[in-house]
Amino acid sequence: MPAAIVTGSSRGIGRAIALRFARDGYDACINYVHNRDAAEEVVAEVREAGQEATVVGADVSDPEAAEELVERTVEAFGGLSHLVNNAGIDQHVYTESLEPGDFDRVMNTNVNGAFNVTKAALLHLRDAEDPSTRSTPSVTNVSSILAYTGAPIECHYAASKAGLLGLTKSHARDFAPEVRVNAIAPGHIETDMTADRTPEEAKEERAAIPLGRFGRPAEIADAAAYLRDATFVTGETLNVNGGELMR
Ligand code: NAP
Repeated sequence: MPAAIVTGSSRGIGRAIALRFARDGYDACINYVHNRDAAEEVVAEVREAGQEATVVGADVSDPEAAEELVERTVEAFGGLSHLVNNAGIDQHVYTESLEPGDFDRVMNTNVNGAFNVTKAALLHLRDAEDPSTRSTPSVTNVSSILAYTGAPIECHYAASKAGLLGLTKSHARDFAPEVRVNAIAPGHIETDMTADRTPEEAKEERAAIPLGRFGRPAEIADAAAYLRDATFVTGETLNVNGGELMR
């Protein structure tokens, strides 16, 4: 210890968070659902940064797999001080074309997944004594700007990310004072999830962002590191979106 689980850390934002935590002195459990090779590469990068890493393939939407993810992390590191619920999926389909099961699949991964891993981790987090003077045990849920704005072509995704904000505040009240619970709501970040935009779509989306560009995964990792260390912050959502949401 100190040790962290970052769900969905084989790629994208989760990978950046795991590497940032490693640079800050945290051992890391790298979790994936399909891409073991990519997850193994992140393990190697964590070790290059001087920390220990373990890799666990687990579908967070499955409560038993979530329990195993936590147990294997605790076995590897002797405890767990931080959890980042980052694993998520998206699907661009208008409501009238959603197939039976599509809505549940997105909700099960994005909301139930965060709930499953948090529930499995809670006792360990409550027991955690993070030797770092900067930090107390925490859960951080990765939501989205779409939780506030909605999205016509991905209503289930937006609903799941709004659900995560309710989960965050409920768990922040429930788990205080031992464990802090916060959320990050990223805007458009350059990862595989957003790689499907045509040049025209990307140009239009950039035009809506006052800072004039998409975000980088490392910029969400900065927010995750802040919330990990923010010992008087709980129940909050940190918006990281280049100004897209300002009013
Ligand atoms: P990404 O590049 O598509 O990566 C998704 C990650 O989640 C991968 O590591 C994937 O594992 C993992 N994953 C998917 N389903 C899983 C499951 N059932 N169990 C365990 N792991 C699972 O996505 P990203 O852009 O980095 O997004 C990360 C998070 O940020 C998501 O929650 C997303 O909704 C949120 N977010 C992203 C953006 C954006 O613009 N990119 C904006 C707002 C919020 P495999 O590699 O094994 O598939």
